[in-house]
Amino acid sequence: MSEPYDLLVRGATVVTPAGAIHADIAVSGGRITRIRPGISDAASETIEAGGLHVIAGIIDSHVHFNEPGRTHWEGLEHGSSALAAGGGTAFFDMPLNSLPPVTDAASFALKRAAAERSSLTDFGIWGGLVPGNVGQLEPMRDAGAIGFKAFMCASGVEEFPLSDPATLRAGMKRASELGMLVAVHAEDEALARLRTSEQHARGTDVRSWLKSRPVELELAAIRTAVDIAGETRCGLHLVHVSSPEGVALARDARLRGVDVSVETCPHYLLLSEDDVIRLGAPAKCFPPLRPEGLRLGLWRELDAGAIDTIGSDHSPAPPEMKRAEDFFAIWGGISGCQHGFELLLSEALAGRPPEITLPHLSALFSANVARRFRVDRTKGRLAEGCDADMAIIDLAGERLLSNAGLLYAHRQGPYEGRRCRVRTVRTIVRGRTVYADGRIAPGATPGHLIRPS
Ligand SMILES: [Zn+2]
Repeated sequence: MSEPYDLLVRGATVVTPAGAIHADIAVSGGRITRIRPGISDAASETIEAGGLHVIAGIIDSHVHFNEPGRTHWEGLEHGSSALAAGGGTAFFDMPLNSLPPVTDAASFALKRAAAERSSLTDFGIWGGLVPGNVGQLEPMRDAGAIGFKAFMCASGVEEFPLSDPATLRAGMKRASELGMLVAVHAEDEALARLRTSEQHARGTDVRSWLKSRPVELELAAIRTAVDIAGETRCGLHLVHVSSPEGVALARDARLRGVDVSVETCPHYLLLSEDDVIRLGAPAKCFPPLRPEGLRLGLWRELDAGAIDTIGSDHSPAPPEMKRAEDFFAIWGGISGCQHGFELLLSEALAGRPPEITLPHLSALFSANVARRFRVDRTKGRLAEGCDADMAIIDLAGERLLSNAGLLYAHRQGPYEGRRCRVRTVRTIVRGRTVYADGRIAPGATPGHLIRPS
């Protein structure tokens, strides 16, 4: 006789956007079929999770796994494994840094095939918006793109050029017609060039570099982006907003009726510019880490509900690209998809700041992402009928983080030595365990493409 359930997670505290409840979770055919206390039916596999918490699997809407083409920078297998080790069950891979960049249906198909071979978790794929490819947006939408990403300043790789305002306007107009979101890297190119030339002439150290990317770059670009989004009635997603002033601009635009959402990253909440001065290359990113006052301001915006999603912007590079005499020449990108989310949960538990709760943070990692990208019919929620994507976490998993424990292709990151009390015990994708007890589960099968409904 077959068991009524494939999987039963028993006795955990289940974290939902509405709050935490004590319940069991039953799974059949990859879906959650029941959530309630005291489920007594048998299951093929039972996980005793007493004393642990279950959160919806993290959907990291912002990673650069760089495959195909620059797999030696990271790769889908390493990247998705690291993500799973930190509670992630899905990611949306950015269109750039892989080769070819995803700017048409053919390059989309290449990335999809690579992920269907190598990704441990489910995945979405961003299409790129670049000058001259507006005609490719519809084929990429039809192929299943999660949204379109554009850069308002130089991207760091030649093959993914920036979008000037005319390109952005044409792209957002088309995306709006297609019912798709456009995400922008918001730093103003003209100001970036100006401040870089001024500061580089004075010095090539980290402090000069920090002065070359002030908040004014971000604010100028956000103003332009929200104006164009309003004009074209396009849904806009501001990725990696690094300052409370940037969040405030988005909030004002929303009050004017612009459809804009705000992402920030764990590193802007966990680290400040003192950390990039102290750590150097592993903490270099664009936009840069900000002064402590702005970091705290970002937490206040998060508390006030003005930040919609948190994505890692995991953007690794080989060690040789993270070394240079001239700090301006070092690759800008933080590797953080494995520990960033656990550290944020840990900060919240420690009461820094006091008002942030586990359900609120978890929603920023999962439910809000799923809703904004229209995959919430099956993803991002611990609810009956949804995919059984979840992370079982231990809130008393106190340890010192070590780069040696990273599953990235290159074990570099800014969190070495940091105390973290939240530990991912097990990660489950559509009912199958992909990570447990410190290692990737044997026999894992590749993830599926997630597309907007
Ligand atoms: Zn990025």
